Amino acid sequence: MSTPIQIYLDNNATTPCDPRVVDAMLPFFHQVPGNAASRNHPFGWKAEEAVDYAREQVADLLQVSSKEIIFTSGATESDNLGLKGAFEMYSRKGNHIITLKTEHKAVLDSCKKIEKLGGEVTYLDVEGDGIVDLGKLEAAIKSNTIMISVMWANNETGVIQPMKEIGELCAKHGVLFMSDATQAVGKIETHPKDIGVHIMAFTGHKMYGPKGVGALYVSRKNPRVKLTSQLDGGGHERGMRSGTLNVPGIVGMGKAAEIAKNEMKQDAERLSVLRDKLENAFKANLDEVYVNGNTEHRMPHVTNISFKHVEGEGLMMTFNQNIAVSSGSACTSASLEPSYVLIALGLGDDLAHSSIRFSLGRFTTDEEIDQAVNLVSKGVDHMRDLSPIWEMYKEGVDLDAVVWSEH
Ligand SMILES: *Cc1c(COP(=O)(O)O)cnc(C)c1O
Repeated sequence: MSTPIQIYLDNNATTPCDPRVVDAMLPFFHQVPGNAASRNHPFGWKAEEAVDYAREQVADLLQVSSKEIIFTSGATESDNLGLKGAFEMYSRKGNHIITLKTEHKAVLDSCKKIEKLGGEVTYLDVEGDGIVDLGKLEAAIKSNTIMISVMWANNETGVIQPMKEIGELCAKHGVLFMSDATQAVGKIETHPKDIGVHIMAFTGHKMYGPKGVGALYVSRKNPRVKLTSQLDGGGHERGMRSGTLNVPGIVGMGKAAEIAKNEMKQDAERLSVLRDKLENAFKANLDEVYVNGNTEHRMPHVTNISFKHVEGEGLMMTFNQNIAVSSGSACTSASLEPSYVLIALGLGDDLAHSSIRFSLGRFTTDEEIDQAVNLVSKGVDHMRDLSPIWEMYKEGVDLDAVVWSEH
């Protein structure tokens, strides 16, 4: 019996750890057991040395000083520290933060907490292509605005925001610019100093590093940003994030950053060709296929596609033994909710529910894309063959005009 096809196209959820990263990490589980904060024996020194080296590797990818890198447990913690830490630190200057409706929950839920603590948050709409309108963003800035937080690239659509222009707006109005750059770091160039980003969150496991380790870039010069710590204890990480450092994880994240710096350009070129091939094949094989979000300003390895009149979760069931992707629906306890990101782009519930996110990665092959096209196209045909709605559509019934009975 041959092994079943297993194709991983969910790299925006998490990337596999690069084997070179695993090799770099292994000695730090056993051979080098030290605590990086132990200052009085060689075990501690070796651990500290390894952390320093990883900090340089990460800083090098971002073209910043290693003193500006704070290690955390992941992007969720980094987002929390950046937002809540700035809110607390700059409370005398103001209490207003501007962000987007399409941000990750780690940002949105941190903002909700900030509102409970007396902050004011503006959640801006995006345009139909997922990109924020700069005029609307500038109009939202008030005298009490301390920070604008905009994600570099969206996790569901891959859409990239006009970072440079937003950086200029922030500089003009003297507000801090924070970015959740989790989906961009290590995949495209993310140099916060060129863009005017002052605080930037990212994570190891979305850039072929390990899970459970992340980082926050915090500008030390022009401006010198200070954050109120959210985890207090031994005063690690320049007092901003206490807790014994995850030495193997940090070593892995450093190695992942070094590999990304050397290889991300060629990875991006290769993956954008495969991504376009996937998209074009669906458009050629199937009717009523829609790509969601701006297709020019987006990450090279992502496509979010609605297969109209097909329910995405059901479609996924037809191939999920063989292909891993994400659907545009989220399971809550009571029901299947359409993605709030796609709804913010103006998609109706039906198109949002019919969407699938394909996110390719460093280990995706050309052959896998061919197999995915084949299996997913078959799945769509199968679902549509069974669907009375698809039959009505084929017969030319105007589905928008149909009055569906309440139940
Ligand atoms: C994955 C992700 C996060 C959360 O990262 P963790 O390291 O898993 O906490 C935050 N923001 C974005 C945009 C993400 O894609």
